[in-house]
Amino acid sequence: MSRVVPMNDLRRAALAEGELLKDAVTRVLEGGWYVHGPEHDQFERDLATASTASYALGVGSGTDALELALTAVKTPERHVVITAANAGGYTTVAARRSGLTVRFADVLRDTHCLDPAHVQALLRDDVAAVVVTHLYGRLGAVAELTALCRDHGVALIEDCAQAAGAVLNGRGAGSFGDVGTFSFYPTKNLGAAGDGGALTTSDPVLADRLRALRQYGWSSKYQVEVDGGRNSRLDEVQASVLRARLPQLAAANGRRRDIIQSYAAAAAGTAVQVLAAPDDSHAAHLAVAVSADRDAVRRTLEANGVQTDVHYPVPDHRQPAWTEEHCGVVLPVTDDLARQVFSLPCFPLLEDAEVEHVCTVLAKL
Ligand SMILES: *Cc1c(COP(=O)(O)O)cnc(C)c1O
Repeated sequence: MSRVVPMNDLRRAALAEGELLKDAVTRVLEGGWYVHGPEHDQFERDLATASTASYALGVGSGTDALELALTAVKTPERHVVITAANAGGYTTVAARRSGLTVRFADVLRDTHCLDPAHVQALLRDDVAAVVVTHLYGRLGAVAELTALCRDHGVALIEDCAQAAGAVLNGRGAGSFGDVGTFSFYPTKNLGAAGDGGALTTSDPVLADRLRALRQYGWSSKYQVEVDGGRNSRLDEVQASVLRARLPQLAAANGRRRDIIQSYAAAAAGTAVQVLAAPDDSHAAHLAVAVSADRDAVRRTLEANGVQTDVHYPVPDHRQPAWTEEHCGVVLPVTDDLARQVFSLPCFPLLEDAEVEHVCTVLAKL
């Protein structure tokens, strides 16, 4: 193979979809209703059904969704959020914007998701919420964390930005905690043609509060009933694109899992371990591998025409803007994994020949 196998190529999906997206966008443009119209209403219903939550609310981005969720659950007494430091910093950004302090818990070495035992050790009366990021598409420890949060009167927020379509025992990502947050950034499993996000919940009171917070604090037009509101909306064009793509999500996630399982099998017995995606509780957003010799392995892959990336190289407590506040934080597993993880090409329209090429290179490592 002389071409490079890319980490992603968003043109392939758009071309394969043919007239689907053009028809959706044309319908919106000609309909003359561009924000919070019929496409948005229908997408909210479709997403609620798909994620097995009672309500879904469109917002402007995944980070906005996190910020709104945290704003909705904080109280004057409870102003701390517990989360992991290995998930790209989105929750930390959102927490700081919504006036919450972040307390980092370590992650489990085999899943890279929040360690419930460490979360438990960090719980105090000042904690408003735990945010579990379903990292790389794999559902975190939802059973343990739901029980723990319920016992301590703490909200559980699921960051489903990488896990759209993940299912466990018939329930979707975003239906286990009090609130689920989604991103439709173009590279996500359910990607828009621009920015977008959503919130899910099955609590009618929380749904009303979030609905108000996303639009100026309005309970109805020009009636500000909730303080702390802002403007974060999913527009009609993006909603129409997402409506068109949602029916294909399960099949696309299946293809992603097949790619990851091929890589895992090819790398077996080498110095590289690919994290498995064996069933549909894993949306297989990223094909992540672990190697003690990460940088050398990446160089070999690149030299053989395989693009790689690192998700994520700098844990939150080591980000320059935040180190001072978190200088005493000790997260051995998080730090260890940040030195070892790297990601391989994984998107539904990778060609079989490309997947085989990556497997051939992996097997020789
Ligand atoms: C992409 C992502 C976000 C942020 O979503 P945006 O739409 O880019 O704001 C949040 N959390 C995780 C885990 C993500 O991967």
